[in-house]
Amino acid sequence: MNTEVPTLEFSFLEEGFSAWDIVEQKINESSLTDDRDAFYVCDLGDVLKKHLRWTRALPRVTPFYAVKCNDSRAVVMTLASLGTGFDCASKTEIQLVQSLGVHPNRIIYANPCKQVSQMKYASAHGVEMMTFDSEVELMKVARYHDNAKLVLRIATDDSKAVCRLSVKFGAPIKACRGLLERAKELGLDVVGVSFHVGSGCTDAGTFVKAIADARCVFDMGEELGFQMDLLDIGGGFPGSEDTELSFEEITATINPALDKYFPVDSGVRIIAEPGRFYVASAYTLVVNIIAKKVIIDEEAPIDEEDNKTLMYYVNDGVYGSFNCILYDHAHCYPVLHKKPKPDETMYSCSIWGPTCDGLDRIVEQCCLPDMQVGDWLVFKNMGAYTVAASSTFNGFQRPDIHYVMSRPAWQYVQQIFAQGVLPPPLEGSSQLEIPACCGRGSTFDMPAKPCPANIV
Ligand SMILES: *Cc1c(COP(=O)(O)O)cnc(C)c1O
Repeated sequence: MNTEVPTLEFSFLEEGFSAWDIVEQKINESSLTDDRDAFYVCDLGDVLKKHLRWTRALPRVTPFYAVKCNDSRAVVMTLASLGTGFDCASKTEIQLVQSLGVHPNRIIYANPCKQVSQMKYASAHGVEMMTFDSEVELMKVARYHDNAKLVLRIATDDSKAVCRLSVKFGAPIKACRGLLERAKELGLDVVGVSFHVGSGCTDAGTFVKAIADARCVFDMGEELGFQMDLLDIGGGFPGSEDTELSFEEITATINPALDKYFPVDSGVRIIAEPGRFYVASAYTLVVNIIAKKVIIDEEAPIDEEDNKTLMYYVNDGVYGSFNCILYDHAHCYPVLHKKPKPDETMYSCSIWGPTCDGLDRIVEQCCLPDMQVGDWLVFKNMGAYTVAASSTFNGFQRPDIHYVMSRPAWQYVQQIFAQGVLPPPLEGSSQLEIPACCGRGSTFDMPAKPCPANIV
């Protein structure tokens, strides 16, 4: 492993300051000018907190962060320092991770359908662990990467997940024996089984079923003479607190299943590929209202408050950060920067992105006060599947990202890095006093939920 602490590109939070204070500060600075561009604040300390939470909740499972979820160098570097592994799906992702000094045995090439040239790249750069789910892939591996340590990806019942993956990837259980036999004939080495329950998992039972299925496939593999010693339980874990099922609820279901089907004395190494979990809550996006329309309902009585509807246009949209609405089925609601008065009138509003496409709508319907051009709206939990897939369509640039971390958090990261191992569970540790993540405990915390009366 490399021995230098990589340099991170972030600012230290002054003592007593939280990432939310930086949001406030940037808003104040920007409000002095006419620019008022959208921006992000990313709290790398929140990534560390997630890591500590992971090691506490899933002590047997080594995380291999799924790079596609957010490939910002600062995030990947923080995780590299923390000693996680990485799930890479392409040559570029492998290059990024290796450029930070990560050893190839901390990388799983977790794309079951790989381009040959990229498979050759992995082979030339020492990346051996890789997934497969078809016979054609086995033939490519036999030809171009015959020292691969193969992991058979099985399909799961992801019908209840927000984003389904098993429609595209994963071998059905009944196809597994045939695939394992074929791998044997080709002289390849199968070392384990992987699955993905679908991103945004809403049913922990899916994990249990998949872990039990993986056990069956392990048994088949062992019968055929493979030394099966790697279980990869994939991703699907929530990254924010506003989900149906909490992270700890899921892990409380997973742990007994792991102990039942893959007890500690089985010697099986267990890994996972969390993406969303690590990054969603670290990012707060701040956008500015650039235009506004007031729609008056002529039919409604004049003095009624609900005779007017407001349309707000802001400087990031679905072609930018909010691509998560289209691709990740996200529902994004803003919190107000200016605290409304207790008796402030709320209006039915829609929020639109800056491009000239009518599809570019962020919120169809929510309740907000009457705001002005130049006012700010804040979107929390914007780290997963946002910046990673955003475009500059129509000439609208991506928001700047301000990375911050508290000094105690940074010192803790360095300590973990120096030890070169995952930290022991942190019971009773007082050395880590990281400020609560963006906005928690803030007085401006007023989520704009959809008006119940108007939900369609
Ligand atoms: C996208 C992906 C992940 C990450 O999923 P999350 O739901 O973000 O945790 C993990 N593994 C594979 C193979 C993926 O494609």
